[in-house]
Amino acid sequence: MFGECKVPPGSLRRGCAMHLNGAMSEGRGLVVIVEDEPAIADVERLYLAQAGFGVHIERDGPGGLAAIRRLRPVAVVLDVGLPGMDGIELCRTLRAEDDWTPLIFVTARDDEVDRVLGLELGGDDYLSKPFSPRELVARLRGLLRRQDGPGTPAPITVGEVTLDSARRRVTSGGEEVALTTTEFELLAKLMSSPGQVFSREQLLSSVWGHVDYGGGRTVDVHVAQLRAKLGASSPIRTVRGIGYSAS
Ligand code: CA
Repeated sequence: MFGECKVPPGSLRRGCAMHLNGAMSEGRGLVVIVEDEPAIADVERLYLAQAGFGVHIERDGPGGLAAIRRLRPVAVVLDVGLPGMDGIELCRTLRAEDDWTPLIFVTARDDEVDRVLGLELGGDDYLSKPFSPRELVARLRGLLRRQDGPGTPAPITVGEVTLDSARRRVTSGGEEVALTTTEFELLAKLMSSPGQVFSREQLLSSVWGHVDYGGGRTVDVHVAQLRAKLGASSPIRTVRGIGYSAS
């Protein structure tokens, strides 16, 4: 049976770990899925849980609306064709209450796409069935990243290294790595744009806040320390004659 998950009250805010269907969430927050096709809801739940989200499923419009009001999720994945109250009406109701929870519509037909696009819903997104569940996760992350703004970006992963600026936390190959503030900022800069090559001057100016043309050595020393701490999983590459990149 594709049941809904019961989430204990008080465990719903982002940053709190929670147990859902026996799995420990990484604490990215709770996503409410409103979907009347159990097989689709289940695939969505599986992928979102793997991505670290807690998941609560509702099967109809009124139940979805009540759950969103009660649970205050970080985002909603909302089917358009729903019993009781359709997804568009549900969204209208939320927005009329000044609830701007990020929301991704799931549409089954072109005319539903037209209806979703015809609304002014403040930068929300939609996916057309059939869609890849990976695409759903990517869209959701993008939506949350944009919502968070540059101050608290979503965690970035390059290879086996994940950097979480909101929590000032870095893991390499699944192990937490203790970094100094400078090492953290340097890694964050490199990982902010994977594959982009940063010159030593760019890194100095962005991480240290100044450009000292004799300071390239400072960058090299910190990069060496970072690599030693990150071990074999280090994503930092030396680009000869230019600088460094993370890829
Ligand atoms: Ca439906």
